[in-house]
Order: sequence, then C-alpha cells, then structure tokens
Amino acid sequence: MDNQRIAQILEEMADLSEIIGDNTFKIQAYRRAAETIFRLNEPIQEVWARGESIPGIGKGIRTLIEAITPDGESPELVRLRAEVPAELIKLTRIPGIGPKTVGRLWQALGVRTLEEVKQAAKEQKIRAIKGVGAKTEMLLLRGIEKAEMPKERWPLIEALSISEEICARLRDYPEVKRCEVAGSIRRARELVKDIDLVVMTEAAPAVAERLKTFPGNIEVVAWGEEKISFRYASLQPIAVDVRLFSPEQFASGLVHFTGSKEHNVFLRQRAKEKGWKLSEYGLEDERTGEIQTFEQEEALYAALSIPYFTPELRDTEVVGGDAFWKAATAASLEALIKQEDIQGDLHMHTTASDGGDSIEAMARAAKKMGYRYIAVTDHSQSLKVARGLTVEQLLQHMEAIRTVEEKLSNEWGEPFYILRGAEVDILPDGTLDYPDEILERLDLVIASVHTSFKQSNEEMTARILRAARHPFVDIIAHPTGRLIGRREAYGLDVGKLIEQAAVSGVVLELNSYPERLDLSPSYLRLAQEAGVQLAINTDAHHTDGLAWMALGVKIARKALLRPAQVINTWPPEKLFQFLARHRKHWRKR
Ligand SMILES: [Zn+2]
Ligand SMILES: [Zn+2]
Repeated sequence: MDNQRIAQILEEMADLSEIIGDNTFKIQAYRRAAETIFRLNEPIQEVWARGESIPGIGKGIRTLIEAITPDGESPELVRLRAEVPAELIKLTRIPGIGPKTVGRLWQALGVRTLEEVKQAAKEQKIRAIKGVGAKTEMLLLRGIEKAEMPKERWPLIEALSISEEICARLRDYPEVKRCEVAGSIRRARELVKDIDLVVMTEAAPAVAERLKTFPGNIEVVAWGEEKISFRYASLQPIAVDVRLFSPEQFASGLVHFTGSKEHNVFLRQRAKEKGWKLSEYGLEDERTGEIQTFEQEEALYAALSIPYFTPELRDTEVVGGDAFWKAATAASLEALIKQEDIQGDLHMHTTASDGGDSIEAMARAAKKMGYRYIAVTDHSQSLKVARGLTVEQLLQHMEAIRTVEEKLSNEWGEPFYILRGAEVDILPDGTLDYPDEILERLDLVIASVHTSFKQSNEEMTARILRAARHPFVDIIAHPTGRLIGRREAYGLDVGKLIEQAAVSGVVLELNSYPERLDLSPSYLRLAQEAGVQLAINTDAHHTDGLAWMALGVKIARKALLRPAQVINTWPPEKLFQFLARHRKHWRKR
C-alpha cells in the first residue's frame, strides 16, 4: 500500500470523524499523520521495517494503517463511512463548506440527503444553527443547485482553481520539475471542457504511477508512461489529462497541449514551409530526421520565424483567428494592451457595501500592483442585498475615502488618487438610484443593472440606453449582465449601446471578474472600431480580487485592444481631464 493511498484514507477518516463530531485531538492526529505520510520520501513500511518511528504517527494510527488491506480498503474507514449519510459527504466538495459545517447541519437538523439540505436552506433554517451563518446557507444552496445542473462545460474560474490545486500538489513531488496548466484554461476560454496539465520530469513513469492514486483521483480513464487521464473529484467530477515531458521536450509539449488546434495547424504549416515537422516532441528536420528541442516556448516560435503569441492569442476566440496569426508581426503584437499598461482600477467594493476589505486595504493592495489611482464604487441604496449605501451613508463614505487618500499620499510621498465613486443601480425605468445633485458630487459614476433581469429586449435596451445618455454616468459596468455558466445575458441590444456610447462618450466596461468577462471579445472589438472608450475593471470585492485584472487584460488582448482606448491605462491627469470634459460636454446641452 503506497503512502499516497494511506494519506488519502487518513484524510477521509478525518473528514468523516469531523462530520460525526469525534474529538478534535483524534481528528487533528489523522490530518497530521496524512500530511506527514504524503511528504515521506520512501514507503512508510520501510521506515517501520528499520525499527524507526515517525514523528506524529503513534501506535493507534499505526495499527489503523497496518489494518489496510492490500487492495487499499481500511476497515475503520468502512465503519466510519457507514455512519455518515453518503449524500452529506458530497457537501464537503462545495467550496467553502468543510466537514465541521456538514456535521453541524446533520446534528442540528437531522438532514440526510441533498434535497433535505436544499429545503432547509430555502427555509432559512441553516443560518439559525449555532456557528453557521447566512453566507454558508447561501453557499450550500448555490452549490447544490450547481451540482444538479448537468455539466459539460466548466466556468473558467472553477476549472482554474481546481487545476491550480492539482498542479500545486504535483509540484510537491520530488520528480516534478514544473507543472503548467495548459489547454483552454491557459488560453483563458470562458468555458472549458477539461483540465490539461503539462508536467516537466525526468522520471515520467514514476510520476504516472503516483498519479494512479493521486488524492482526488476517482477513476483512471487512460494510463501510459507519458500520459494519464483521470476523473478528479470536485463537486462534480472533472476530466484531467496530465502529459509528462522531459525538460528538453517541455516547450513543444506545452505549445502542443495549449492549442488551440487551429493555432497548432498554423504552426505546423510554418514548420512544413521550412522543411520541418512539428510535434509535441520538437521540430524534426524531414530530410535528416534530426530533432530540435526547446525548453522555452519563445525559442520554438523564434525557430519558426513567428512572433511569440501569448497563450490567450492562440485561442480561436481571438479576433481574426487564422488571418490574425498569419499577419501578426512582433510590432503588431507589441502594440496590444498589456498588464503593465494598466495604471488603475475603476470598479471595486469595500466593507461599506458588500466588499470584504476596507478602503485603505484596497488602496494598499492597488499600490502594490503598481497603480496610481483607484475608484471606490460601492453599491447604491436600492440594492439592499448588497447593503447599498443611503445618500447619507454615501456622503460619509466619500469623506472616509478622502481621509484615506490624504493619509496614504502623505505616507507614500506622492499622490495616490482614490476617486469617490459609486456603482449606481439602473432602475427598471432607466433612471438612476441617486438624485442628480448627489451624482454630480461624485468623481466617478458607474451605472449597472442588478435587478429586473427579465425585461423584454426593448425595455432592457431602452433602460440601459437611458442611463448611458445620463450626463453624470461615466461608465456602464458589466453591460450584458451574463454570469458565465450561470445566467444568460439580459436582453440588451449591445450594438445599440455601442452606438450610443460612441455619441455620448460614456465608457463601456470590460469587467474582469472571471464569472463575468463582460463585454466579451467580439463586442469589445465592435466598441473599439466604433471609437468607444473602454475601461478594464476587476469589480473586486476583496483585495485578492484586484488580481483578476490579468484575466481582463487577456480578454482585451483577444479583442486586439490597444492601450490608447482603455481609459485606465491613462495617467491620472489625462483621466481626470477626460472625466471632467465628459460632464462639461453635457452641461452645455
Ligand atoms: Zn455590479
Ligand atoms: Zn460592482
């Protein structure tokens, strides 16, 4: 029985004991032992055979381990599993839900099935349990509803976090030199079918062998010495393909398994023109059979005399597709927007409404990203679910923002601008959720729709266009309102909004929150061609969320956006002038 399988069994025993409500010391002992065994460099039996003991693994746990049968069954685990309703165990796969919470549910409400948990959540019985809050109730309800939907495609954000979790564990193996997420996730596709990982190792068979019993691997689908495909236990199982390459083959392997298929065809054609054959193992000279290998992707592209395409540009979603790849030059790619061009983030929330961090924490995190300004844009009064601010609260909030701005600018010895903004709801009739005299006092007004999604196309389009014409609205945020894999866009005629924006000068947002990515590349392209100004924002609700800018920039690159048209690449002076002019322009009318 190998160490990994033993660690897996102990982990599961810890989870089950926690659900049952066993004593904490026992649970912690299981977890510590699992961790220790997972990190051992040799089979645990060999250590014991030498008569050595292992710190953290006492007599009791040793007895449990020695009772595991050769085919990997543990009598103790079987006993524990029988005690806990099988469906409840599934709940621990919902992000944010741990075994302790599941145990509390079970004990307090006696629920045994997902259906019963869902019902209890709907009746708001879960939030009443001691130690469990309304947030957990919401996570449970959403998690169960999600699990009920058949899943052929995964939203990028979910696949990304699962794949990074797997890669992180793989990097713990001494044989693994590198692990990269490849495939459509690396190309920043909105929805992905499976997870592709490319691993650099000089001991492929050993890694493949380990992966057979990788924690979370619930079924091996295909197995070879260079490749293993398995189903990974998430809330719903997701297909994972791991390809193993030697260091010198790594770059060609990574290119191959990043795709897209169409981009690979383009690369192979270029290789052919040079008398070479491109495969995942390198570039083969068709006459001599000699194989050139690469450790860096850039070197492979250079050998083909092709400018280096970052992964998102290899996706078929990139504007122009094949024609774009063929025509691109190093200079044309260099002209596209990059993360380093971004000077600020103009959409974020704080603890004043539904965010998790203070104004100051957000500003400090933004400064770390190299920004020179941000806009704090908490929700407006009618959005009660997001604790929107009343007029009075907003005025206080604006004061608080100014205080932080002064404090940090002094501390840093240079101005750091925090725009006093708001994300103002566009009400069903297209009017805004604060009176004009309040909007006028804000530095930046974002307008967006969060309610009455089911309006007809005509109503919704008229509603948003009305806001886009409002003299004090600077940005229309997440214009289509879609939530990838969860909610369709509402009935907005985006073409009309783009036309309107070109006339009124309102800025359209590319919201980088992974579930939104709104506007999508094809609309961004239309907007750019119509001369509309754009803003790439994160809509961060906590400091970590600011990092989603990188994803937004990738989406913008797929639309071939250039920095000049994206207002948050501008230095502060230019941005403020633009915002002031936008308002003045309207006052004249
Ligand atoms: Zn919003
Ligand atoms: Zn927002």
